[in-house]
Amino acid sequence: MSADFDVFIIGGGINGCGIARDAAGRGYSVGLCEMSDLASGTSSGSTKLIHGGLRYLEHYEFRLVKKALSEREILWANAPHIIWPLRFVLPHHRGLRPAWLLRLGLYIYDYIGGRKKLPATTTLDLTTNVVGKPLKPLFSKGFEYSDCWVNDSRLVVLNAQDAALRGAKIETRTKCVSAERKGKVWHITTEDMQTGDVIVRTAELLINAAGPWVDEVLVGAVKSSNSKNVRLVQGSHIIVPKIFDHDRCYIFQNSDDRIIFAIPYEHKYTLIGTTDQDYVGDAADVAITAEEISYLCSAASEYFEKPVRDEDVVWTYSGVRPLFDDGASTAQEATRDYVLRQDGAADAAPLLNVFGGKITTYRVLAEAVLEMIEANLQARGPAWTKQASLPGGDFPIDGFVGLLIDVQKKYPFLEPEQAKRMIRAYGTQIYDLLADATTLSELGIDFGQGLTEREVSYLMEKEWARTADDILWRRTKLGIEADEALFTALNDWMSACG
Ligand code: FAD
Repeated sequence: MSADFDVFIIGGGINGCGIARDAAGRGYSVGLCEMSDLASGTSSGSTKLIHGGLRYLEHYEFRLVKKALSEREILWANAPHIIWPLRFVLPHHRGLRPAWLLRLGLYIYDYIGGRKKLPATTTLDLTTNVVGKPLKPLFSKGFEYSDCWVNDSRLVVLNAQDAALRGAKIETRTKCVSAERKGKVWHITTEDMQTGDVIVRTAELLINAAGPWVDEVLVGAVKSSNSKNVRLVQGSHIIVPKIFDHDRCYIFQNSDDRIIFAIPYEHKYTLIGTTDQDYVGDAADVAITAEEISYLCSAASEYFEKPVRDEDVVWTYSGVRPLFDDGASTAQEATRDYVLRQDGAADAAPLLNVFGGKITTYRVLAEAVLEMIEANLQARGPAWTKQASLPGGDFPIDGFVGLLIDVQKKYPFLEPEQAKRMIRAYGTQIYDLLADATTLSELGIDFGQGLTEREVSYLMEKEWARTADDILWRRTKLGIEADEALFTALNDWMSACG
């Protein structure tokens, strides 16, 4: 009897969805279960950078930095609607790392990652440059270097969408409660978290990509004694009203040797983060602490002339990093690289566990997992994701303005901000979403914030959205400005749709 799937994946974060997409595209039959919403775990709680990680150079993680830097321009080209370049301003601080060390680190950063399109590092005179304006006058010199920004939760959804278009079966609100080896086949029991329905499916190979829950899946579902692989490290962010008016970000060194970023966010805000502290408990319950808020406000206030106060915070979010436990003494020193381990005897159905990893490295992680899949099942097709656009990303990296002009010509009834937001979310898929609409009223109910019935239906049909939170926090970030009435109206409408 053949199994239902070649590969079954537990976890709909960036790693699970990236693996599903790559495997489906190579011709494997793929199933994936996600116990909550796609990207509801760590993959929506990141700093949202596609970056090499300048700080990791200090921990001699050259391999990771090189690998991550090389991914920046690949991912940008694959999804220019949700990934774009950003310039980072690093003010020099006399009491901390010397200027020559920063310049050396940035020189390495510029040259080890195969940078072609992103601009190189420059030195800044902060007394005259506009980026010096919001800073305290004591900062007179700085450096500016390149990395990229990513809409993290949309990256996950687009990988899931592409996987499904290539034949993968993606089930959300579906928890893997048990996985049992019967000879060379896995028998996987999943439970629908809304109806309680239980289904058993079979697969030749099982992938545990459960992020912070990876050990819990091993112990609870697989009944393995291998239970201590990841170190859970909480990181939190605060969002405050816009502190500066230009489009660059800041990277600030703190006196405790950590760094924080201050990044332009959703036009009207500045995103500040992150923290690093060991976490105990269910990752689903993670929330910012009062100490983290104070830490981030005072770290940013060391640099900005106008202090950032606790009461300025309009929104916060937290995530739990599932870092491979390499025995590092502090959370900050633990490796950010991923580790892949195969579990089980040679003649038993294989289990591949994914420990750690960054959003930035998800595509190469998936390729490494595919090599392991091929070693167990037969190879089906070549690696393909390096040059393949994600859904909606099939336009040139500098094509945003051209796309905007075309969309505004075809759909003149859209408000300019609405058109920009939708292109940033859907790229060229905006044409499928809006189809032949000629007036705003054809898009149905207007829920507010430029969110229409047409868009909500699209997100329910094509992107697995089930609740207002899925739409207002993960498919869009409209939640920041939405009032309770919008959440209620949307939830009511979505539940009525079934
Ligand atoms: P997750 O996204 O957590 O996905 C795992 C999924 O498995 C979850 O959705 C969960 O619901 C599901 N699941 C668990 N158990 C089960 C089960 N039994 N059945 C079904 N489903 C299950 N990386 C970068 O590259 N750039 C950054 O700027 C960056 N910043 C970060 C900042 C912070 C504060 C944090 C916390 C992380 C950051 N990272 C960053 C790292 C990155 O976010 C993570 O490495 C990545 O998101 C992990 O993805 P994942 O798929 O492994 O885990």
